[in-house]
Amino acid sequence: MSASRHSLDRRQFLKNGLLGVAGAGALAAVPAVLKAEPQTAVPPAGKTAARDFIIRPLGKTGIKLPVVSMGVMNSNNENLIQAALDGGIVHLDTAHGYQRGTNEVVIGKVLKGRVRDSYFLATKVPGEPQDRRTGTFTEETKAGPFLEKFDLSLRRLGLDYVDILYLHNVTARQAVLFEPLMSALEKVKKEGKARFIGVTSHQNEHEVIRAAVEAKIYDVVLSGYNFRKTNLPELDAAIADAVKAGLGIIAMKTQAGAFWDREKTQPINMKAALKWALSNPNITTAVPGMTTFDQLTLNLQAMTDIILTEEEKAALKLGAEKNGPGLYCQGCEACLPQCPNNLPIPSLMRSFMYAYGYRNLGAAYDLVASLGVGPNPCTDCAGCRVKCALGFDVRERATDIARILAAPAEFFG
Ligand code: SF4
Ligand code: SF4
Repeated sequence: MSASRHSLDRRQFLKNGLLGVAGAGALAAVPAVLKAEPQTAVPPAGKTAARDFIIRPLGKTGIKLPVVSMGVMNSNNENLIQAALDGGIVHLDTAHGYQRGTNEVVIGKVLKGRVRDSYFLATKVPGEPQDRRTGTFTEETKAGPFLEKFDLSLRRLGLDYVDILYLHNVTARQAVLFEPLMSALEKVKKEGKARFIGVTSHQNEHEVIRAAVEAKIYDVVLSGYNFRKTNLPELDAAIADAVKAGLGIIAMKTQAGAFWDREKTQPINMKAALKWALSNPNITTAVPGMTTFDQLTLNLQAMTDIILTEEEKAALKLGAEKNGPGLYCQGCEACLPQCPNNLPIPSLMRSFMYAYGYRNLGAAYDLVASLGVGPNPCTDCAGCRVKCALGFDVRERATDIARILAAPAEFFG
């Protein structure tokens, strides 16, 4: 029997008593609690509602969140998002560019009519233009377009304010400290259109986190963080210092690409990978992407239990030993100085993961199209000089994913 025939739909999901976590009556419990604690998305640590959710403070924001949140990037399924909120998830993570704006529209529909204090919504807007190889902003990067995009996000969401607005996808200290966009973020916060402001980073995260501390305006950093990272000592140290300085750290990319192989025959143990990320107490919550009720079920189980079993530890270890480098580029940037064509290799590798790991071809297309590379980025290179820290065949992957540009953009809309 195929995996899809085992999949839960919303009706089955609800019938199963919300995952067996709480049983009957759980649906009603969360909103009641949330209403009672308007400044806090969930009750204080140790005093959870019907279920013993593990909750953690988000830096010095005064907010506490369950350790599992929902990354909505790959899903436009209203029922799934509804079920996540009904199941106890409080924090939804989206972005201006996800599904070309449709993601925010769908979330807006789901949130309509819900008590505003019962959920915690984050969106992200990129600063543009940005040199995608160095991650720096240029003289042409202005606050105006950034603010216009954010206002459009609010309209799509049907909200007066979001809980977090992130400057999206920064990889360099210069970008974190870029004055025009810092001022724009501070303005948004002052006007009450965002309660908190932050930055997100998929690569070079430790530098971004340290720069966020240095900037002294940010409340939160959304950072790539998973068991495949090879620079954990410096990343963990940066996270610990940021938490001491009062920032909240939220983890993304916890599933490290979701699959080990492009054929999608070897899934990464999602629950184990999520638990691994949450085993760092400095991570407030994680935003794993979810597209099915089965995934939601597994992730919600980690709301009450983040202790890795021996089997789960072994699954993560053996997966790497058996399957090689996988699909996740850890964003270490070791490849960048090695490429004479100055290709933005980490972003190309991330597009590759979006296409093969997430099956989100729209996200893959949009990211490649934003990089300014053509459909044949490596053709004038006799031999690839890049030695990837994880062992990727960078030329093969870059050439493979850049082919997506040959398709019309509207195919992915
Ligand atoms: S083949 Fe390798 S070195 Fe040449 S452009 Fe492609 S990634 Fe860069
Ligand atoms: S060296 Fe490999 S893992 Fe590191 S950023 Fe480049 S492609 Fe990604």
